Amino acid sequence: MGDQRIAIYPGSFDPPTNGHLDIVERSSRLFDRVVVGVGTNLAKNTFFDAADRIALMTEACAHLSNVEVRTFDTLTVQFARDSGARFVIRGIRVLSDFEFEFEMANMNRQLAPEIEMVFLMTAPEYLFLSASRVKELVAFGASVERYVPASVARRLADRGGVRTGATEPRD
Ligand code: ADP
Repeated sequence: MGDQRIAIYPGSFDPPTNGHLDIVERSSRLFDRVVVGVGTNLAKNTFFDAADRIALMTEACAHLSNVEVRTFDTLTVQFARDSGARFVIRGIRVLSDFEFEFEMANMNRQLAPEIEMVFLMTAPEYLFLSASRVKELVAFGASVERYVPASVARRLADRGGVRTGATEPRD
């Protein structure tokens, strides 16, 4: 590891979207190694369990040789330390993302001042894309192929729709 610039990209990824993938791809060009962290700690009512979310993310990132996908059930800064990372990547879409991230970043700074938060602005085509919206579309039988990697679209189709009312608080 030594001098390598390692970053983690934590999230729920329930399911991974093209917006997430764009952030992973851009991060993979900025850092020597990127560890995508699929979070399992928050008692979130996720649609896909952790094993599925890891499998979907791993398949979607297969073309990126310096990216690996792992699960974590600790504080984000602890996951960063455990991964030997000094950077935490988060994506920002709208002002509400900023408020949430600003608060989290300040907490993380107090917990682990050596770790730098890095915010990547969403590409405009993904500005209004979220995992929650994707699940809503699926619930109503709409096609989501343009919003998620092909493997995710197939898996969503296999699951045959999504129950509404079980969306996470924020994503
Ligand atoms: P969390 O539950 O931790 O917010 P998510 O899986 O919802 O995890 O998102 C993970 C990260 O990806 C967050 O930083 C989020 O802001 C970012 N993100 C989600 N959707 C997009 C998008 N369309 N464009 C850019 N970043 C995004």
